Amino acid sequence: MNELSVATSQRRARKQAPSPARTVPLFDLKRQEPRTHARIRARMDQVLRHCQFVLGPEVEELENALASYCGARHAIAVSAGRDALIMALMALGAGPGDAVFVPAFTFSATAGAVAAIGATPVFVDVDATSFNIDPADLERVASAVAAVGKLKPKAVMPVDLYGLPADYAAIGAVAERYGMVVVADAAQSFGAVAGGKAVGTLAPITATSFYPTKVLGGFGDGGALFTDDDDLAAEVRLIRTHGRLGSGDEALRLGMTGRLDTLQAAVLLIKLEDFPEELDARRRIAAMYTDDLCNDVITPTVPPGFESTWALYTVRIPDRDGVRTRLAEAGVGTGLFYATPLHRHAAFAPWINGGEALPVSESLAGEVLSLPIYGDLTDEEVGYVVEQLKAAL
Ligand SMILES: *Cc1c(COP(=O)(O)O)cnc(C)c1O
Repeated sequence: MNELSVATSQRRARKQAPSPARTVPLFDLKRQEPRTHARIRARMDQVLRHCQFVLGPEVEELENALASYCGARHAIAVSAGRDALIMALMALGAGPGDAVFVPAFTFSATAGAVAAIGATPVFVDVDATSFNIDPADLERVASAVAAVGKLKPKAVMPVDLYGLPADYAAIGAVAERYGMVVVADAAQSFGAVAGGKAVGTLAPITATSFYPTKVLGGFGDGGALFTDDDDLAAEVRLIRTHGRLGSGDEALRLGMTGRLDTLQAAVLLIKLEDFPEELDARRRIAAMYTDDLCNDVITPTVPPGFESTWALYTVRIPDRDGVRTRLAEAGVGTGLFYATPLHRHAAFAPWINGGEALPVSESLAGEVLSLPIYGDLTDEEVGYVVEQLKAAL
């Protein structure tokens, strides 16, 4: 194509698809940059000067800040959210022959962590209102696994989906009946609350992620584990450094390269300063969405005594895909978290027997749609998303 025909076809393309009045992306990390740049730069410069790039002082400072934020006795900064789940399972001694129960409606890393240590992920259905693991279905599936007797029920890994804590009271009761430990996948919910207790203290061990688009996000991969159990914390610290204690060279147990970089800790210390404000803004935006949309679509609800982080604001719409296309044409970014329940992922086929009954996960996967929600979204943009969603319906 010559220059003229390129210009002509561009003009034609513009005519066919008029560019939207504005664009509201699903995530937009660039908006934080002017606010955080100088502070983060100063913190990172300190690391560049002291050169303790692994387990430098910023890591311990971050761990102390995270522990006091949520009230957990120990916070251990690690390499990623999925690695945190793996290290928690390793510290509990889970492995081949063990069943670890996971919701079927979550990010693939939840079940991926279970399979990675050689344990068997067993899929449990979720509750249609909370999107979280259904304690009654957990009881049903755990009793079936126990009755067959081939696998030992070892742990249950609830996920606080979209930032809303799971029902840990009910899950804990089922776990106790089967002798299982609860490992919380709080990758989306650090900063949330249930029954007056903060995420990080709701389960014997809790894992979170600092992936850049999480509510508390770094400049790369990162995560943390929380526990009140001194022995579990010591075991995780050992696993985090190849199973080596301090400067000793002997591997006392199998471990991994599971540490958070000092540079990431420096970034996260600054992000943590702005975190309460980010949570407040998300809660305010979620309330606006719910007020404006509750008569048009199924909006998410937060049970009494719970507070969500609103990692994602997710509505349910029967004609989800059509609405999503029309919103994209209007410049509104949306996300599908998640369009495929885990038991339908190719990666998990080896652990599927065909007898799984996961109807709620199946139907949610076809209906969920996540809208833009972050502290830097303006009220006007929230209004635009609402208006365009109503029009798209
Ligand atoms: C993001 C996420 C993870 C994985 O975290 P990474 O830091 O990307 O490894 C695990 N579980 C859930 C529910 C997540 O949202």
